Amino acid sequence: MSINALDRLVSLLSKLPGVGKKSAGRMAYHILDADPSYAGMLAEELAGLHQAIHRCSVCGSFTESDPCPICADSSRDHSIICVVERAQDVRVIEESKEFRGLFHVLGGLIAPLEGISPGNLTIGQLMNRVRKDSVREVILAMNPTIEGDTTALYLQKVLKEFNIEVTRLASGLPVGGDLEYADRLTLSRSFRGRIKV
Ligand SMILES: [Zn+2]
Repeated sequence: MSINALDRLVSLLSKLPGVGKKSAGRMAYHILDADPSYAGMLAEELAGLHQAIHRCSVCGSFTESDPCPICADSSRDHSIICVVERAQDVRVIEESKEFRGLFHVLGGLIAPLEGISPGNLTIGQLMNRVRKDSVREVILAMNPTIEGDTTALYLQKVLKEFNIEVTRLASGLPVGGDLEYADRLTLSRSFRGRIKV
């Protein structure tokens, strides 16, 4: 059987998180059934995505402008930095409306078995921010997994040299980083009940 355009699309779509072969097939047929302009718009957005969206040079989250709207917002509390694993965690926390400080995206967690060491993450940039800006608190918002705990412990150690408060969320972020799964009540309790470490 030869591979046609439909098979190629199904194969690409099934690489997305949470999308199996079956749903990829449904999506592909849906696109095929819809007006061709839909496929055109989808293709255009995908093709231009990496040109339009960059990482904020300050916090590392995805943005069209640099610095991002959060870092550029003078009405936010610039003395508190919430450290998260991934850019999508910023969105989850923003949705909860519980936090009015700034963020720092690590770009992953320390995982020696997968070859991810502190040097692969944006820990140096975080240290520079704490050093240069008048930061009084760093909130560690990584999830309570082995990698999350390892990373939090490492950050606690390296942040000791600064005279700042380091806290950790009482319970982790909603798993999946998807707004649909975000339990806002849990998240807001987690922020209010953050623990000094
Ligand atoms: Zn930013």
